[in-house]
Amino acid sequence: MSEDSFDLVVLGGGSGGYAAAIRATELGMSVALVESDKLGGTCLHRGCIPTKALLHAAEVADVTRESAEYGILSQFNGVDMVGVNAYRDNIVAKKYKGLQGLIKQRGIEVVEGRGKLTSPTTVTVGDRVLTAKNVVLATGSYSKSLPGLEIGGRVITSETALLMDYVPASVAILGGGVIGVEFASVWKSLGANVTIIEGLPHLVPNEEETISKNLERAFRKRGIDFTVGVRFQSVSQDDQGVVVTLENGETVTADILLVAVGRGAATEGNGFEEVGITMDRGYVITDDRLATSVPGVYAVGDIVPGLQLAHRGYQQGFFVAEEIAGLNPLLVPDINIPKVTYCEPEIASVGLSEAKAIEHYGAEKVSAYEYNLAGNGKSEILGTAGIVKVVRVVDGPVVGVHMIGARVGELVGEAQLVVNWEAQPEDIAPLVHAHPTQNESLGEAFLYLAGKPLHTL
Ligand SMILES: Cc1cc2nc3c(=O)[nH]c(=O)nc-3n(C[C@H](O)[C@H](O)[C@H](O)COP(=O)(O)OP(=O)(O)OC[C@H]3O[C@@H](n4cnc5c(N)ncnc54)[C@H](O)[C@@H]3O)c2cc1C
Repeated sequence: MSEDSFDLVVLGGGSGGYAAAIRATELGMSVALVESDKLGGTCLHRGCIPTKALLHAAEVADVTRESAEYGILSQFNGVDMVGVNAYRDNIVAKKYKGLQGLIKQRGIEVVEGRGKLTSPTTVTVGDRVLTAKNVVLATGSYSKSLPGLEIGGRVITSETALLMDYVPASVAILGGGVIGVEFASVWKSLGANVTIIEGLPHLVPNEEETISKNLERAFRKRGIDFTVGVRFQSVSQDDQGVVVTLENGETVTADILLVAVGRGAATEGNGFEEVGITMDRGYVITDDRLATSVPGVYAVGDIVPGLQLAHRGYQQGFFVAEEIAGLNPLLVPDINIPKVTYCEPEIASVGLSEAKAIEHYGAEKVSAYEYNLAGNGKSEILGTAGIVKVVRVVDGPVVGVHMIGARVGELVGEAQLVVNWEAQPEDIAPLVHAHPTQNESLGEAFLYLAGKPLHTL
């Protein structure tokens, strides 16, 4: 056994872990970053980046099919999935190389191998013992299934879906949350027949209801089938495909079933409980400053209950490094972290839904405005439909922004700034939004709520 000592040991080199490592070195700490697979974790290799590359390829397919509408003559001759995957893998490889270089330049020691927390100040990796005053746990998440639903063969998770070198003729997708609707969108654009099965009353059930309804309308128009409000019962598979049975007796047949029912915390076998860390169903319980029940040990990213998003991991990693350095940093609560779902049409939101705002402030203290993208020049040019809904406290700040439409993910930067800065529509109304941009739709909503509507009544 060899023993090495650092200021900080980070267990897991995904978004949360590597952000903690980078910020800690910026603050002068010596850092060991333990990773059993590839730096960059789920987001870079199996999550955000590869799926968004697929979604872009899917958009290219749609644009090619529809190009005559814009007076451009082209022919859609099909999908070369090997080519699509090569494009995607090339992006991942470039980003991976960049990240490896960045970590090296920062002087972070990457320790390859599976690490185990063996005491509050020790992580053991093979025959190396890494000691530090502080440890950050960042071991991420895995695709969950349902009790009795076995993954294998034609029943797959997103990890396997990303490895497929063909477009299935038909797909059933269990789960109408973010991952489910994104894959539905990709496969539909690439030519598959898609059916989503969602047990809750709406697709993207964590979004404002009006956004879910808009998405359902858009998906219907795109020919994406879905059932909502009925739960999955069982699945059988043979050489021909899968048959999914719902609790109401209805069946869905398809070539494959993608199980997209959420992600669990990847903490098993990492020694956390043995060291005395409080856990709940695999998740690491922390206080509101990300400290675990064991002094000196922090947790970040998907293993901490709440939103499972890469940028939440980044902020938590940054936060913990600064906390350890005694900088008393600010942590943005989950509700004010921007969320984007990259299906077509895109969804983006931050802050409270109108219903939650009413619950919080009372109906008489909340006002909301829904701007229809039909009035926005750039949206018309792009040929997209959708809405921007802004929720405010009467005589108070904007507390929520909810959007759907092509490319609205790019608008969430302004939305999160407004919500987190607790700006009032009256503060923003005099500020200028460039024309023609989709940003103007936010501007129009703020103008309306400030009592001086421009292109709206
Ligand atoms: C299909 C899909 C699409 C997604 N799209 C988006 C998106 O568009 N935007 C977004 O914000 N988020 C997206 N996410 C979520 C995002 O990927 C995660 O929130 C993010 O990766 C979490 O970061 P993390 O650091 O907590 O964990 P991870 O990224 O999972 O990293 C954990 C790392 O720890 C390593 N590890 C685990 N145990 C050990 C051990 N014992 N020893 C050593 N190493 C260990 C793992 O190998 C892994 O590299 C998506 C996820 C999926 C699955």
